[in-house]
Amino acid sequence: MLSLVYRSAWDVALEERPRPLITGDHDVLVRIHATGVCGTDLGIISGKYHAKSSIILGHESAGEVIEVGARVSTLQPGDRVVIDPTYYCGQCSMCRTGRQNHCLHKSTTETGVSSDGTFTDYYVTEDRFLYKLADHVSYEEATMTEPLSCMLTGINQINLLPNFRTIILGAGPIGMLYSYALASKGITGSIVDISEERMRLAASIAPERWTTYSSFEGALAAISPEDHQVDLVVDTTGVIGTQILSNLAHGGYLMLVGLRDGVSSFNPKEVVDRSLKIIGSIDSLGTFATAHYMIEQGLVPARKLITHTYPLQSYKEAFQTLGCDLNDGTLTSSSSAIKVVLQSC
Ligand SMILES: [Zn+2]
Ligand SMILES: [Zn+2]
Repeated sequence: MLSLVYRSAWDVALEERPRPLITGDHDVLVRIHATGVCGTDLGIISGKYHAKSSIILGHESAGEVIEVGARVSTLQPGDRVVIDPTYYCGQCSMCRTGRQNHCLHKSTTETGVSSDGTFTDYYVTEDRFLYKLADHVSYEEATMTEPLSCMLTGINQINLLPNFRTIILGAGPIGMLYSYALASKGITGSIVDISEERMRLAASIAPERWTTYSSFEGALAAISPEDHQVDLVVDTTGVIGTQILSNLAHGGYLMLVGLRDGVSSFNPKEVVDRSLKIIGSIDSLGTFATAHYMIEQGLVPARKLITHTYPLQSYKEAFQTLGCDLNDGTLTSSSSAIKVVLQSC
């Protein structure tokens, strides 16, 4: 089967790989139909995020069940499914203390990072990681389930109130999904992106009553004209400093979800004295079923957020759309795309 393989930074290629086999009683063989391109994939390709050499990339995917293990009772060949790629063992110290997204086996089991992923035709996982799709949900739309689940995990860490003054930095797929995850909790906020083009795109697909701005200051002045304070800032860009803390109201939250290296300093006294919370969140934890429900019910307009689809063979073009140029070895931010999906057939 043709697979998109990561060899080293800026060196990815389509390679022929053997079709994986079912080995366990709870294993399920899935024919992959669609996989979303994630910021993590671009981070790996550009050498900013470590991945194991020679693994197949891709983790946000959906497909059709082809074969099931002897003890699989809830699925059968022909079922359409979405895959929860966050493997966890259930037995290590992290899993036993409710932190399955940090399973200690992650360094060898993380789909598309340390273990073979889904930018290919076939994938084997266990029945506990599969969710059936309703007929009206396309494979492409279903690929949004995993990233949405990560956002729901993030906001579960915040003691949210519907009247929180909220700003999301970055109108990429993560920023847009955060807006919908927060909107589902009754929050109305603003999305900021420095690219005018992307902001216009974001404005057309943002949740009802949400607004878009081209600068943090602009959003701040509009939301909080008197004291320039907000209750929640979600940063998806990874390029802000902790100076933003001064714009947080007492007891406010800075949620960091932009996976980028950097150095930042803050005054611990300010954090203590004003009861500020700086929170990080990665992967999903106990929220996949809710994300699945939200996509199925149309609570998140997955179809609108997917701005481009390409066949797997056109992966270079797909990455190019997202600002990742494999020929030049450059990664810049894209202003014309939100979510890009690769189709395996
Ligand atoms: Zn992802
Ligand atoms: Zn574990």
